Amino acid sequence: MPIYEYQCTECMHNFEYLVMGSSVPDNCPACGSISVNKQMSTCGFTSKGVSGETVASSAGTSSCSGCSSTNCSSCGSL
Ligand SMILES: [Zn+2]
Repeated sequence: MPIYEYQCTECMHNFEYLVMGSSVPDNCPACGSISVNKQMSTCGFTSKGVSGETVASSAGTSSCSGCSSTNCSSCGSL
């Protein structure tokens, strides 16, 4: 389940939101503004393909924090 970071454009408050399906945060938990922008995900479970589609990159099955491959033969991180 991806967690996205959002930032309120009114008070610049940063907050995380657990995205389930197509749900989106309706407002800022700090000031109640509906003007929130999604920030870069800190998890990186998905990436955009060349044509804009969402491509699952290892989908959280990788145990490696140093690379995106499912095994760590290339980067040595374990
Ligand atoms: Zn706010």
